[in-house]
Amino acid sequence: MKYFLYCRKSSEDEDRQVLSIESQRQEMERLSAGWRDVEIVEVLEESFSAKAPGRPVFDAMLKRIAAGQADGIIAWHPDRLARNSMDGGRIIYLLDTKGLKDLRFASFSFENNSQGKFMLSIIFGYSKYYVDSLSENVRRGNRTKLQHGWLPNIAPLGYLNDKEARTIVVDNERYPLVQRMWNLMLTGSHTPRRIWEMATEEWGLRTVKRKRIGGKAPSLSAVYRMFTNPFYAGVLERDGKTYPGKHQPVVTIEQFEHVQRLLGRPGRPRKTRSFSYTGMIRCGECGFMVTGEEKINRFGTHYTYYHCSKRRLDRHCGQPYLSLDDIEGQIETFLGEISLSDRFQRWATQRLERDTKQKQQDHAVQRDSLIRARATSMRELENLTKLRIRELLSDDEYIKERQELERKQIDWTQKLEALNRGSKRFEPLGSIVSFNHSLISRFRSGNLQRRRMILTTVGSNLVLKDKKLSIDVRKPFRRWTDSGNISDLRAFVRDVRTHCDDNSAECQEMLKNIRVIMDDAPQDDQSLLV
Ligand SMILES: [Zn+2]
Repeated sequence: MKYFLYCRKSSEDEDRQVLSIESQRQEMERLSAGWRDVEIVEVLEESFSAKAPGRPVFDAMLKRIAAGQADGIIAWHPDRLARNSMDGGRIIYLLDTKGLKDLRFASFSFENNSQGKFMLSIIFGYSKYYVDSLSENVRRGNRTKLQHGWLPNIAPLGYLNDKEARTIVVDNERYPLVQRMWNLMLTGSHTPRRIWEMATEEWGLRTVKRKRIGGKAPSLSAVYRMFTNPFYAGVLERDGKTYPGKHQPVVTIEQFEHVQRLLGRPGRPRKTRSFSYTGMIRCGECGFMVTGEEKINRFGTHYTYYHCSKRRLDRHCGQPYLSLDDIEGQIETFLGEISLSDRFQRWATQRLERDTKQKQQDHAVQRDSLIRARATSMRELENLTKLRIRELLSDDEYIKERQELERKQIDWTQKLEALNRGSKRFEPLGSIVSFNHSLISRFRSGNLQRRRMILTTVGSNLVLKDKKLSIDVRKPFRRWTDSGNISDLRAFVRDVRTHCDDNSAECQEMLKNIRVIMDDAPQDDQSLLV
């Protein structure tokens, strides 16, 4: 039979452990020499990932097979042929329609029958799963790294990757030069091009030598990229999100922004940061959005003011300006009204702990009895089969009894799953109480983004009128009066519980936000977290 010998290796992560194309070819040629009835028509080589359909050599090969130029394919492993559901499906379809008669692999024996095709589809599926979970793990790993303050990529010029600690450290050889470049840039008297010339020609700056790249003078555009990369100010940016970096910065954020202005990229980050309440508050007079604006007084001090955007054409809105401090003061007052007092927090935590313990005990009892019931019915099923084997039961009787037992089993399994789901639901209650207790301290210590998040989690419908900010409380939070007593508190715990029990999208969103806020810097009341 005629075969194509197909070799593939991409430079992508998932193929890192795979033999080179050259070795794949040699191995397969050596192996196939010992196979009877194998004639290799042509060796086809491809350096392309099989993650997605659309490999040119592979596609052309399948066309040629359909045209009868060969009957089979030889490859190192099925994952050389397909790592995506479409290409895997095409191979199996070609086998089904007899366009493809045989497949041979070095590391897997395939027989062209239904069982062989079934195994093959599992391996294709596994290869796809491998690619999927790999990229998912990489993404998850990157996110965790960013949250811990470390850049998940190759270290920028002036830094090195500490492979063992998986952190970014100062490159003692280049960091001083990079620092000098920034200092020159900060003087404002040198262009980036001039600094680039000095660094590469006079100081001999060279990039880090890596396997195939590096060891050369950095390009002018690389120097531009360096001067616009907030990493050098200790800030990590990824997908529009900002993370505080733990590496040693070259410049302060202020110096970085100064350089951005020199480069003609004025205060891009500043804008989004200082006007964080823009688009959240509505004007009580005309209904349009309140917006932030930065003003500089005659002494050069920056102030942020909030005011109605006054977009309404048919009427003039006469609402006055309000300073950021004033707005935040009113927000803090609101947070103070809904915060749990220390005493209430302790009481609620104890109560929740007690309830949770009780519920867990109840659950354990229910779970045990369900598991016992399921085991009993398993035994009954075995006995039933024994009776049938000894022909003490007719087929009809046996089937009827068996169906009944199986149905019961499914019922118990479902009940067990529901029970397990239910016990998970207690966990959020404690974090809501703890969050509610630490609202003000978290608001004060949070950056503007966090403040915004805290505010949207507990409040809604923000309206500003005559310098007064009114905010509605979001469920399950509530305003506490000075005369608040234990029965109010009981009602609150009940509200929290019903709110979490229905497990709505709104509630899930709230819990997600609370988790993010609580994961921030440690708070003084950490010991009280449950
Ligand atoms: Zn207005």
